[in-house]
Amino acid sequence: MASDKTYKGSCFCGAVQFTVTGEPAAMGYCHCESCRHWSAGPVNAFSLWKPDAVKITKGADNIGSYHKTANSYRKWCKTCGGHVFSEHPGMGLTDVYAAVIPDFPHKPAVHVNYGETTLRVRDGLPKLKDFPKEMGGSGVTLAE
Ligand SMILES: [Zn+2]
Ligand SMILES: [Zn+2]
Repeated sequence: MASDKTYKGSCFCGAVQFTVTGEPAAMGYCHCESCRHWSAGPVNAFSLWKPDAVKITKGADNIGSYHKTANSYRKWCKTCGGHVFSEHPGMGLTDVYAAVIPDFPHKPAVHVNYGETTLRVRDGLPKLKDFPKEMGGSGVTLAE
């Protein structure tokens, strides 16, 4: 673990601070309606980490939580409303939004839920209709 790099993240105002350590299990962009509606943005840049790679260093009691479904527990700062991450208990992974860990080199490999997209991205990366087969999706690839 000594060689694992640690990156700092925070909410918009800085009341909530955390670190991620090591390498994420996956990185990419999600175009699903839930990500878009909750973030109020056209696409979510995600990085998925094992839960123990994510450590809250400040403001743990200032983190709000909401879950519409059991798949996603969405976390934000109670002071500024800035989003920090979402826990996905079914996958056993935590999505730390690339935007809140600016020093972490986000290397997207895939677009997921492109079947729901409102923003076409011609970056040459694979565009999955929903999720990869190994994550319970169809694995179907769509045109950009
Ligand atoms: Zn905040
Ligand atoms: Zn999504």
